[in-house]
Amino acid sequence: MLPVVGGDLDIPLVGGSQARHANLDYAASAPSLVTVAAEVARLLPYSASVHRGAGFASQVCTSVYEGARAEVARFLGARPDDAVIFTRNTTDAVNLLARAVAHLPGSDLGGPPAGPRVVVLDLEHHANLLPWSGPNLTVLAARPTQAETLDALAAALRAQPAALVAVTGASNVTGERLPLADVVRIAHGAGARVFVDAAQLAPHRRIDLAALGIDYLALSGHKLYAPFGAGVLVGRADWLHLAPPYLAGGGAVRNVALRHLGPARAGEENAFTRPSAGLEVTWADAPARHEAGTPNLPGAAALAAACRALAALPDGALAAHDEALRARLEAGLAGLPGVRVLRLWPDAATKAGDTAPVGVVAFTVAGREPDALAAYLSAEHGISLRAGRFCAHPLLDRLGAADGALRASVGVGSTAADVDRLLAALDSYLTAGP
Ligand code: PLP
Repeated sequence: MLPVVGGDLDIPLVGGSQARHANLDYAASAPSLVTVAAEVARLLPYSASVHRGAGFASQVCTSVYEGARAEVARFLGARPDDAVIFTRNTTDAVNLLARAVAHLPGSDLGGPPAGPRVVVLDLEHHANLLPWSGPNLTVLAARPTQAETLDALAAALRAQPAALVAVTGASNVTGERLPLADVVRIAHGAGARVFVDAAQLAPHRRIDLAALGIDYLALSGHKLYAPFGAGVLVGRADWLHLAPPYLAGGGAVRNVALRHLGPARAGEENAFTRPSAGLEVTWADAPARHEAGTPNLPGAAALAAACRALAALPDGALAAHDEALRARLEAGLAGLPGVRVLRLWPDAATKAGDTAPVGVVAFTVAGREPDALAAYLSAEHGISLRAGRFCAHPLLDRLGAADGALRASVGVGSTAADVDRLLAALDSYLTAGP
């Protein structure tokens, strides 16, 4: 594997292709860090049962798995009594939480039989829209400014109480983000909890659950410089203890017994020869309750190693790197003929700090078909972008880009040269043609 040092951040990634290509598609999946790959390689000799074996390798696996849980909790600033559940990815985590919410006793919230009300914004990725779909879902349209959007959220919660506000930490289309502290203040003031889809936020900014008062958060390892297959749901344990197990099977239970069959009748050797009357199951609490089956140990350990590497960066370095590249990209795109950068809240686009958008920029080019342009940029200039509707169809519709757009996104391995390569390729294409 060829290590590639990422821009001004000394945090090497694996993968030789990054040396030849300008990878501007970090928002889809990011290459793994060298330290993450090393951690996975270190663990491969230990193939033994997590939580179940008494042998040495099994104890190592259990300790690594639980250590990974603690590391992820630390990275996200989780409260001591929060549950940290390993999932396959963000989508899996949102589905898990949605199932838990749907089964909450919700009579005081206008709930049963459909579960209590959940409020989302219309800017969400489908992963934070579709799992909530049901009669008690409110999809709130984002307003032209962030302040008006927050007011609309407060008004919606006043009009109809909700159990949960589920909001993206950063849009996977525009990179924009609402100030989470304000979302939390408004939601908590109305008695609702807050879930943050941090799939795009976590790779770009540090997040502190406890400091922000966020109740639940999900992210994907493959966007956070770890391989595919592991994500996490972190948050308040009570709802997760109450929820039906996300997966039923070994490891998720304290005890399983055949339902009481009564004493053996005359002529019967014992009552267990009769057909079973069903199972009596005592489920474990979260996280085990939702993690049935043999867990993804390398995935969890890789995710934790990525968290460790990002946490070791100097304070503010990740955000500064990201903001600088985004600013360069936006400024360059603004000077190109026919290019329109997609934004919901132009008022917040140029601000620094809590509401500065992350390094994810979608744009359209007048008269050009996004897929064809992305294919041209890849084939002729070695630039990887994403084209399409980014699993956020309602947002693309309202941004006037129902036919799709292009998206450039940066990460720790991105450099100013990558951004300039895209800008130069677009410039020559738009002025001289392919
Ligand atoms: N949420 C956001 C904001 C995303 O960008 C994505 C993926 O692009 C997801 C959720 C879903 O992530 P995954 O496919 O890893 O489940």
